[in-house]
Amino acid sequence: MGRVDLHVHTNYSDGLMDPFAVVQEALNKNISAIGITDHDTMDGLSTAKQAGKMYGIEVVPGIEFSADYDGKEVHILGYYCNRELNELKQTLQDLKRSRLERITRMIQKLKGLNLDISLADVQQITKGEILGRPHLALALCRKGYCKTTAEAFSKYIGSNAPAYVKRFKITTGEAVRLILKSGGIPVLAHPGLYNADEIISDLISIGLMGIEVFHPDHRLVDILRYKKMAREYNLLVTGGSDFHGTGIGSSPFLGYVTVDSQYLEEIKKYRRI
Ligand code: AMP
Ligand code: ZN
Ligand code: FE
Ligand code: FE
Repeated sequence: MGRVDLHVHTNYSDGLMDPFAVVQEALNKNISAIGITDHDTMDGLSTAKQAGKMYGIEVVPGIEFSADYDGKEVHILGYYCNRELNELKQTLQDLKRSRLERITRMIQKLKGLNLDISLADVQQITKGEILGRPHLALALCRKGYCKTTAEAFSKYIGSNAPAYVKRFKITTGEAVRLILKSGGIPVLAHPGLYNADEIISDLISIGLMGIEVFHPDHRLVDILRYKKMAREYNLLVTGGSDFHGTGIGSSPFLGYVTVDSQYLEEIKKYRRI
């Protein structure tokens, strides 16, 4: 019973708060369950689970794959994946390594622009090993090379800026299949952000099981459209705040978007772990 927030990030990816603090925050906000959905990693889950036991908050294991759909970045959420599956472990390891290599290359480019920044400066920002441009942007600010992360993106690391290097991504198809293989439940994250609803039917044909209907960036028309689609295609409905910690850009607070625990119960009918 209660409200649940099924889309939450921690500092194991690009969130600002550690999993323990995130669970405490759920308690403060009177949320009964949170889905920890870090980008490309499940490393924050053990701590989150521990904290959940202490505070009586249900922690739903999740992940958010940053995947590629025909050159577009599309996010796939996976709930209740078995972390022990070798193929999943291997893919997560590969993603970690390729992110490290990519940030290292970006740092080299920044050095070429006479910006003195090291890998350690970037690694300091995050607890985990999932390095992304938001961490690099914060490190550049700390070093005094820019006032805001937005400035870091526009001057140095945005996709049209001089130190940009593309990141390796798995495809959306690979993400859905991998989640299914791990016994998990694949859900399309914030479909309202892609402007390409054909993605949905495409992914359903390979096993997509749910759709994130409720998200801070969804307008009422989006919510209604995706609710209708969920009914038509018999998809699970999820939702959450996409919390990244207060103070990161326009990130809303934990629980800014929640769904009734009834939705989580529906999802759990398909869990295998
Ligand atoms: P990455 O996956 O490492 O390439 O980083 C992508 C992330 O950087 C996105 O999810 C955003 O959170 C952030 N980002 C991208 N462009 C900008 C921008 N112009 N200003 C601030 N943050 C941005
Ligand atoms: Zn994020
Ligand atoms: Fe996302
Ligand atoms: Fe997210």
